[in-house]
Amino acid sequence: MFLKRPRDNNNESSSASSSSCCSSSTPLKRNHSTLESRRKAVRDWGNQSIQSADPVIFELLENEKQRQYKGIELIASENYVCKAVMEALGSHLTNKYSEGMPGARYYTGNQYIDKIELLCCNRALAAFELDGDNWGVNVQPYSCTSANFAVYTGLLLPGDRIMGLDSPCGGHTSHGYYTPNGKKVSGASIFFESLSYKVDPKTGVVDFEKLEERVLDFRPKILICGGSSYPRDWDYGRFRQIADKCGAILMCDMAQISGLIAAKECASPFEFCDILTSTTHKSLRGPRGGIIFYRKGLKTKKRGMFFNESDGSDKYDFEEKINFAVCPALQGGPHNNHIAALAIALKQLATPDYKAYMQQVKKNAQALASALLRKNCRLVTGGTDNHMLLWDLRNLGLTGKNFEKVCEMCHITVNKIAIFDDNGTLIPGGVRIGTPAMTSRGCLESDFETMADFLFRAAQITSSMQREHGKMAKAFLKGLENNKDILDLRAQVEDFATQFAMPGQDV
Ligand SMILES: *Cc1c(COP(=O)(O)O)cnc(C)c1O
Repeated sequence: MFLKRPRDNNNESSSASSSSCCSSSTPLKRNHSTLESRRKAVRDWGNQSIQSADPVIFELLENEKQRQYKGIELIASENYVCKAVMEALGSHLTNKYSEGMPGARYYTGNQYIDKIELLCCNRALAAFELDGDNWGVNVQPYSCTSANFAVYTGLLLPGDRIMGLDSPCGGHTSHGYYTPNGKKVSGASIFFESLSYKVDPKTGVVDFEKLEERVLDFRPKILICGGSSYPRDWDYGRFRQIADKCGAILMCDMAQISGLIAAKECASPFEFCDILTSTTHKSLRGPRGGIIFYRKGLKTKKRGMFFNESDGSDKYDFEEKINFAVCPALQGGPHNNHIAALAIALKQLATPDYKAYMQQVKKNAQALASALLRKNCRLVTGGTDNHMLLWDLRNLGLTGKNFEKVCEMCHITVNKIAIFDDNGTLIPGGVRIGTPAMTSRGCLESDFETMADFLFRAAQITSSMQREHGKMAKAFLKGLENNKDILDLRAQVEDFATQFAMPGQDV
């Protein structure tokens, strides 16, 4: 295959350098020694560490490890996985093809892979206290974006309609998105027809009256609740009522908050929704990937489009359609290393330790919000119900982009977001801040108060840099070079962050 074969008797005659010991040996001994040399060649290639196989990549990995260790990670969608999850991710399970579902694979040799995937599915149902007669789960999607697209592909025809929260209002691109000049960005908008609903520009929460009006006009086949940058709990009952008015399937994308939901630290969407998707690497603290839960078995109540269909079936038909959409329609072989790693993470979800972790994530978000509010900072919706807050930087005169850049240079990662201005126009005037990652490193409320001080200091620096150099990218960036305030803050941030352990790594 890829190996340089040690020379054996086939090319012995043509090779001057072939070992003389072999030619004088008995056939048995010769076999033995060539086998040994082949074993050695396999090991030489196959068992090298990254460090010796690829020093360039090794060094970049080391740099990234140091960055993760020395910085303050406040991106709401990031987290640190534990060593067990990492070991499964880096395991030999990546070698196996297993297209299909457990018990019905395209290739043979999947007896253990089947067990792993079934265990993963059972743990996923258990983590959310779902009964296997009424709920099914697919753990194969490579990401939540692909999980969402699989739902549309399975249940809709091209051009059918979906409706989700507008991306600049905190929704996710995978629920459909067009740029202001009309370019279709999301696959959901390229292959289906998407129309969004919005938050109220004044309050920052979903405007249900307008949503209902739009739903009745547009009549989407799938209505989506859940978003990327939404700091408040969702009124799933209200979404259900509205979905029922047009016979839509109600789908929840709980990518951000699935960990909170599993720990019962926010409202559960399962009672009201037909289909739920999630990432597995955000608050859930597992490996990167996606997951889809769907109702199955007998329909409980008459609601949703499929209840009115001509076949008059009293059973949900999501299972076959969704599984088929994931594979073979959109994906090939599942990533078995990911599925094993997910099973490990899902096992932890059912423990008191995870519940305590999620409670701390929320307490930390509250502590961070209070500390910023005490400094007269503005938060969208005035605070948070979950693991994230949206800091509106407009009253400080800052753009989200400049603040994000200064934070990055001070070794703090946050991300810019759009905010409504007073005229109801969206401008990139804020940042999203989340607590899951630093909570996984053991930070408590008082630590988040310290982080609030760092963030506020970074805002002051951004403000004075904007005053000195203007808000425009080029001049602003030039002003940041070798800035003493930034270097000072960066040193403080690194001193702070390196006090804390980092899951999964010895640093
Ligand atoms: C992060 C996120 C996604 C995308 O997840 P990927 O696994 O990166 O594709 C989808 N939906 C929501 C609401 C998200 O927050």
